[in-house]
Amino acid sequence: MAERVDLLNMNIDELKEFLVEMGEEKFRAGQIFKWVNKGVKDIDHMTNLSKPLREKLKEKAYVNKFDIIKKIVSQIDGTIKYVFKLYDDEIIESVLMKYSHGFSVCISSQVGCKMGCKFCASTMDSFSRNLSASEMLDQVITIGKDIEERISNIVVMGIGEPLDNYDNILKFLRLVNHKEGLNIGMRHISISTCGLVPRILELSKENIPVTLSISLHAPNDETRGKIMPINKKYPLDKLIEACKIYTEATNRRITFEYSLIDSVNDKREDAIKLARLIKGMLCHVNLIPVNTVSSTGFVKSSKEKIQMFKNVVESYGIETTVRREMGSDINAACGQLRRNLMDGN
Ligand code: SF4
Repeated sequence: MAERVDLLNMNIDELKEFLVEMGEEKFRAGQIFKWVNKGVKDIDHMTNLSKPLREKLKEKAYVNKFDIIKKIVSQIDGTIKYVFKLYDDEIIESVLMKYSHGFSVCISSQVGCKMGCKFCASTMDSFSRNLSASEMLDQVITIGKDIEERISNIVVMGIGEPLDNYDNILKFLRLVNHKEGLNIGMRHISISTCGLVPRILELSKENIPVTLSISLHAPNDETRGKIMPINKKYPLDKLIEACKIYTEATNRRITFEYSLIDSVNDKREDAIKLARLIKGMLCHVNLIPVNTVSSTGFVKSSKEKIQMFKNVVESYGIETTVRREMGSDINAACGQLRRNLMDGN
């Protein structure tokens, strides 16, 4: 028997094609799309489809589904960390954050990551595989159902490098944005990349106005190369040039993420170099008090240093914020819970 297909991984055109191949009517595609995007996993629960069609569908298709194997709720701010088990027993994490403007979900895009950033827990385990578009979508759907609330914002900043899973991330964006699906606006979605220059250039041509966040974390090649191996392939001048092309093409402001690591990248001169590097760009700097991951040996900068860094960058007329620490009591840097579970802790 041919392999069954995942209905949640299909857009309406693909569903139509699939139905026609089965000898069914195209208009059913919209109905199926709505069911799966509402979180319905059991084809028998798609009550506006005839019984014979449901039986046929069950033979040829399924709906992606995964189990919540751990859920940790912050007592400080209600942030929830979810750990999901996928169909092949792989594990990923997602985080739900509550803001005054609504609920935001931080999703993973890959199982593990190839990029090797030295401060990141996700990269300590080898890369296993890309997530499908439906596995990204289902993180948002499952969390929305779990809390019985509408999710209004998405950040693709969990485990993985989203632009290293380019085709699936694009498909996910179009699915999650679809008006018959979750209908989350592109402007409410941020994608974070460590700097895959050719992919940033490609993305600038897709007419998808998502916010691009660049994991910068250092103001020069020397420091960046030490903590982010990707910098050897795509050094800062190439990365900044690609960012300028992206902002020109999309008219969207870029966010530069900068994790402050004690004595590594948090000196006054670093702040000056950073400001000079990006001055005049349509951008914003988000300073992140780095998560202390015991195994990395990196330690968070002091509050005073963070404030000094912010003041210096701002003095160049660049808008700068310090990321609020969400769920600090349930912490575990992104990827750390997965790692603990894999180690059997
Ligand atoms: S910071 Fe992002 S790109 Fe770098 S290793 Fe971690 S998950 Fe991968």
